[in-house]
Amino acid sequence: MLKINENYLKLPGNYLFAEIKTRVNDYKEKNPDADVISLGIGDVTQPLNDEIVNALHSAVDDMSVPESFKGYGPDHGYSFLIDAILENEYASRGVKLGSNEIFISDGAKCDTGNFQEIFGLDNTIAVTDPVYPVYVDTNAMAGRTGEFINGKWSNVIYMPCTAENNFTPALPKETADIIYLCSPNNPTGTTLSKTELKKWVDYARENGSVIMFDAAYSAYITDDEVPRSIYEIDGAKEVAVEFRSYSKKAGFTGTRCAYTVVPNALTVKSESGEEVSLNNLWARRVSTKFNGVSYIIQKGAAAVYTDEGKKQTAITIAYYMENARIIREGLQELGLKTFGGVNAPYIWLKTPNGMTSWELFDKLLNEVNVVGTPGSGFGPSGEGYFRLTAFGSRVNTIEAVKRIKEGLEV
Ligand code: PLP
Repeated sequence: MLKINENYLKLPGNYLFAEIKTRVNDYKEKNPDADVISLGIGDVTQPLNDEIVNALHSAVDDMSVPESFKGYGPDHGYSFLIDAILENEYASRGVKLGSNEIFISDGAKCDTGNFQEIFGLDNTIAVTDPVYPVYVDTNAMAGRTGEFINGKWSNVIYMPCTAENNFTPALPKETADIIYLCSPNNPTGTTLSKTELKKWVDYARENGSVIMFDAAYSAYITDDEVPRSIYEIDGAKEVAVEFRSYSKKAGFTGTRCAYTVVPNALTVKSESGEEVSLNNLWARRVSTKFNGVSYIIQKGAAAVYTDEGKKQTAITIAYYMENARIIREGLQELGLKTFGGVNAPYIWLKTPNGMTSWELFDKLLNEVNVVGTPGSGFGPSGEGYFRLTAFGSRVNTIEAVKRIKEGLEV
């Protein structure tokens, strides 16, 4: 008899954003004239910049004649993009990496979700709490997380990140084999300092752990002291994989392009005692299960690194960060406690008057027609918090803040 992967049945309820969509759609059905503003899901709103669009057009033209037509691309990605990444994202910050250490992909979601496949099922994962749900759910699908009891998986180490510990996770007392860190953080909008990251690199080196470092929002860091890459920390190449994306950096949420760094120095002992290169395993997995990001899209991503591309990309990021300032300062004027929104496009706020995260969600949706994301959807320690994104249009951002200030009693 056919059997399904029973692990899928253990997954709790709806994926967070599906539940939000259901509630918003219900509200809209009952209130068809309501003008609902969403600062909920972290999707961008500003179009691709001209430099990228021109590169995409020209790449389409390349595909139209035999001389420059491209079929399947190289497994790791095209060298024009990899070289631009090495120079602009890493060498510029003093990090030396080789071209075979970069893997171009169609998204950091897929890569952060898929990477666990190359690890054994008896590893223990550690996640910050609250957390980007993909890390936990993909490990749950693989059967690595135990049972889901009272909002927590029995075989997951949760590292609470709240205002009380300044959103910096404490090193776990148990041994964590696979550690997921995200900085700038989704959802809290906070970042890990060099000192904090060094603690994690040292921990991983001492315990033989691997750090999955999600830097999807690195382009939003404004403070020069905050590391953009975990490889700015000595020894990190031996213990960390890094995930980056063009989704938020350059508006590619619908266009799809990202990359994952797997250093050659990163090795893990097999059961037979052999040192196994994670770069080799990931390369094997990629060449077996993935056929690359299209030439056209990789050309578009490479345009981010031309002089003009850099200028235009910076303008859009500054636009979103001005939205972040408007939200942050507006909510603070109202008397709300906010976090993040300085080196990240997310504002994490403490719900007022002891409200739960979903109570605040329903109140804002029903009373002022503003949608945010309930903190509890990101993990138990997110209860009592709420996330707003800076990715809206300026008009909508200003209007949403005005409505919250007028309609929410604090
Ligand atoms: N990692 C984090 C922390 C994110 O918040 C997101 C998107 O919301 C992603 C990864 C996914 O990025 P991509 O669009 O490249 O799949």
